[in-house]
Amino acid sequence: MVESQLRARGIHDQRVLDVMARVPRHEFVAEHYRDQAYEDHPLPIGESQTVSQPYIVALMLETLALKPRSKVLEIGTGSGYQTALLGELCAEVISVERHPTLARDAESLLTRLGYGNVKVFVADGSQGLAAFAPYDGIVVSAAAPGIPTPLFEQLREGGRMIIPVGPAEAQELQLVRAHGGKPLVERMEGCRFVPLIGGEKYASSG
Ligand code: SAH
Repeated sequence: MVESQLRARGIHDQRVLDVMARVPRHEFVAEHYRDQAYEDHPLPIGESQTVSQPYIVALMLETLALKPRSKVLEIGTGSGYQTALLGELCAEVISVERHPTLARDAESLLTRLGYGNVKVFVADGSQGLAAFAPYDGIVVSAAAPGIPTPLFEQLREGGRMIIPVGPAEAQELQLVRAHGGKPLVERMEGCRFVPLIGGEKYASSG
């Protein structure tokens, strides 16, 4: 997976490649899909949600440029796979999931695997989690029609947010940097995520 799907496609951050090699992705997918855990596509994780393709996860992590002392906010814990990777890459991970069952399963798996620097909350992540702000990095794993204002407000000056923006059928990844209190937006490649549910301007079911 690391050589043919990640390095070959241009992921070069050695810290990201190392954690992608180390974190057991098969632990985070349903029993039935374990034999496909390291393949080049997303996989179902229950509640009609998916764990992203490894390349997209690696690209998002590389773009965040996290440091070992960073505090990061993740929206959409899902299986907890990316949460575990974040837990390896930085000091503190605050992760928000709206489905209580996914949050509970991810939390117990992360505890079993020894991730003591990760906290999972059940909430509407389109509002962020102000109690722990500001964040050095914010990663949104569900598609939004635009950049949610509360999330940008919780990003530290100089911090980075990565978020899929666009309509339900297809989005693009956007890198948002907080620069002088304003968002600097860089458009990246196309992608397809499940929708971010919640807040007024988002879909209300799914
Ligand atoms: N990073 C996850 C991907 C999960 S898919 C993984 O590695 O498995 C996206 C997740 O976002 C889903 O679990 C979905 O329930 C969650 N989600 C959607 N809208 C949300 C919201 N407003 N707040 C929190 N989580 C949300």
